[in-house]
Amino acid sequence: MKLSSKNLNERLDTLYDAIVVGGGMGGLSAAIYLARYGLKCLVIEKGKGRSLWMQDLRNYVGLDPHTPGRDILNHGTKTSLDWGADHLRGYVEEVTDEGETFAVKVKVGKTNSIYPIFRSKYVIAASGIIDNLPQLEDMQNVYDYAGYTLHVCMICDGYDMWDQKAVLIANTEGQIGAAFVLNWFTPYISVLTHGLCEVSDKTKQKLAEHGYPLYEAPIAKFHGENHKLSGVELTDGTIVEATTGLVGMGSTYFNHYLKGIEGLEWDGQNLVTNDMCKTSHDRIFALGDLKKGLNQVSIAVADGTLAATQIWRNIRRASSPRKWEE
Ligand code: FAD
Ligand code: FAD
Ligand code: FAD
Repeated sequence: MKLSSKNLNERLDTLYDAIVVGGGMGGLSAAIYLARYGLKCLVIEKGKGRSLWMQDLRNYVGLDPHTPGRDILNHGTKTSLDWGADHLRGYVEEVTDEGETFAVKVKVGKTNSIYPIFRSKYVIAASGIIDNLPQLEDMQNVYDYAGYTLHVCMICDGYDMWDQKAVLIANTEGQIGAAFVLNWFTPYISVLTHGLCEVSDKTKQKLAEHGYPLYEAPIAKFHGENHKLSGVELTDGTIVEATTGLVGMGSTYFNHYLKGIEGLEWDGQNLVTNDMCKTSHDRIFALGDLKKGLNQVSIAVADGTLAATQIWRNIRRASSPRKWEE
């Protein structure tokens, strides 16, 4: 059932088998499996997540390489609802471990918000990350290219940059190192720091040895049309010619709601899991970009399958068998 501020009261007394935080690629896969195991689950999705901005899913077997993330989100949401999952548009603020259950506090509505609390036996953390983008006064100018010809994921889109003139936008020296991976796909790389970091002489020398120019002035605006980049104008008036780019500025992790849970093992901002996507907490699972591993749709989808199946096993093994009784 689709929940909203109007009808969510009907579910405040429900003890869900699992609450899935994030209805993206991994969360929707988990919901489809949970629902088909006959388990009660609630997917909570804030909107504007990473897979929504994925304009083309390039490398998923069986799907056209121009399939946009939003189509998969719509389809997966509808399918999971059809199988019996609940779905709520809202922002998970906090998860509290009550021993046998979790209390999941949700902000519903960006204005005149209400803060219902839902309960579940298990929590699946499927809230992902979002790539940091260069902040310009006119963000629309960035959004016109980000996700189209200005990429954020080399595994996803390196192929689409093959032998093109590319900018690498990096905000730390570590991120500048991506140039020496990106050169697998193209050697025509200009590195832009957008004025965000100091570059050591050692790195400058390495870039020079490879023939990759370095520009340290902040970006003024992106040039191009129809989402196709043609160049980048810097605040000092320089125009760097490029038909594609890679943003390597790190990510923001949607994991704040778990910070009150004791004993969770982290690797940096990523959750560490076992091979069934269980975290170091027996009743919390983590999927996709939020867990340690490759950030790919195929992985997130498989993770959803694994987590849902392990939760089903746990619940099934603890229930009494159904007998054929008249
Ligand atoms: P997501 O799909 O991002 O889902 C997480 C969801 O959680 C989001 O919808 C978010 O809104 C929600 N959320 C976050 N916090 C909260 C909260 N507190 N409360 C409620 N909801 C919350 N991958 C590929 O395999 N191939 C590609 O070609 C490819 N291209 C890409 C292109 C772009 C431009 C981008 C940005 C990504 C691309 N990716 C690609 C990566 C892919 O999008 C991710 O790896 C994948 O979506 C990860 O799935 P996920 O379920 O972990 O996270
Ligand atoms: P969020 O981080 O989603 O939310 C901020 C706060 O709002 C939360 O802390 C919470 O308190 C509240 N909130 C959020 N959702 C809810 C809810 N459902 N109910 C109640 N409260 C809620 N953004 C664009 O706008 N346009 C683009 O064209 C665009 N293109 C992008 C392309 C790429 C490749 C990438 C990586 C990102 C893109 N973004 C785009 C995303 C942009 O960078 C921001 O991540 C996004 O706009 C943030 O949305 P938000 O302000 O709602 O923040
Ligand atoms: P496969 O897809 O079987 O690929 C292995 C290939 O290797 C085969 O095409 C085979 O011909 C070939 N091969 C084998 N030996 C050799 C050799 N020596 N030389 C050359 N080629 C060889 N899964 C789901 O997730 N959801 C479902 O709803 C679902 N429904 C199913 C319904 C049916 C009727 C069946 C039979 C399976 C279903 N499955 C379903 C399971 C799913 O098909 C498998 O899990 C999946 O195909 C496994 O992928 P794979 O690549 O390991 O093997």
